[in-house]
Amino acid sequence: MSRRADQQVPDLVERARAGQARAVARLISLVETESPLLREAMAALAPHTGHAHVVGLTGAPGVGKSTTTNALIGSLRAAGRRVGVLAVDPSSPFSGGALLGDRIRMQDHAGDDGVYIRSMASRGHLGGLSWSTPQAIRVLDAAGCDVVLVETVGVGQSEVEVAGLADTTLVLLAPGMGDGIQAAKAGILEVGDVYVINKSDREGADRLRRELRDGLALGEAREAGWRPPIVKTTAQAGTGIDEVVAEVDRHAAYLRESGQLHVRRTARARAEVEAIAVAALRRHWDDVAGRDGLDELAATVASGEQDPYAAADRLLEDRA
Ligand code: GDP
Repeated sequence: MSRRADQQVPDLVERARAGQARAVARLISLVETESPLLREAMAALAPHTGHAHVVGLTGAPGVGKSTTTNALIGSLRAAGRRVGVLAVDPSSPFSGGALLGDRIRMQDHAGDDGVYIRSMASRGHLGGLSWSTPQAIRVLDAAGCDVVLVETVGVGQSEVEVAGLADTTLVLLAPGMGDGIQAAKAGILEVGDVYVINKSDREGADRLRRELRDGLALGEAREAGWRPPIVKTTAQAGTGIDEVVAEVDRHAAYLRESGQLHVRRTARARAEVEAIAVAALRRHWDDVAGRDGLDELAATVASGEQDPYAAADRLLEDRA
């Protein structure tokens, strides 16, 4: 390895910590492409993490997540806070920002060196969101972001999944997009720390708020010490956004004081370690049996030649 290659990761980490956007982007690309340099990068970044407050935004497509993210960036920047934004598309194999980047109206923040905006495709990664997102968050954290906003794009199971990745989860609803009862079905009544009723310029916002409040009151509180507030916003006009930031800050203070921050971050790290270990295990059994080999093993189980435990033992054997 050349001296230059040797120095690549330490250089990148140093430049990212100094706030260079290109180094931040390059480090997140290492995550996205599952680069062999990733391990070294994560080791170098780890001591510089733990500062950023991670905020997940979730809600049905069209509810206003991108618009709200954009407005939140504005509010946070006005308070002089450094912001990282990660738009994650768990359903798309495409990367590279263009597709997702267009969704965030980031033009408002172009040229502001206190904001990093990055999109990331996570499909195809083993462990999907739980594998790649925490690593990208770590990059933004080490780069000095005070707040990292994680917005999921696309449909699927991600609404609930994102809640496990954030310190504070914002659940967005909007009138005309399904009532409180539908919301309960989607499981969102359990995951929100702060609920946002966006498009409150539209009719039905107050009714939705009442339904949501009743729905939340019926359910069991996720944590005894925190009653999720409901904030009405019109993200398009920036109305209510400062209040959302204030509630996020209040939740962050609650998490720190109650010890829940540590609990949540440990749970997140646990999922991450597990995803990495399972990925390593899969790679190992590709070595042992190969992809076709696994099919052959499965065929022997299907035909009764071998029992499934014996076949599984075969996959796990010779593990160093
Ligand atoms: P996302 O799919 O959840 O990210 O939603 P977007 O942020 O892309 O917003 C979907 C549409 O709703 C866009 O046309 C926005 O301009 C519009 N929108 C966002 N916020 C508001 C709002 O507060 N009021 C109204 N009336 N429209 C909004």
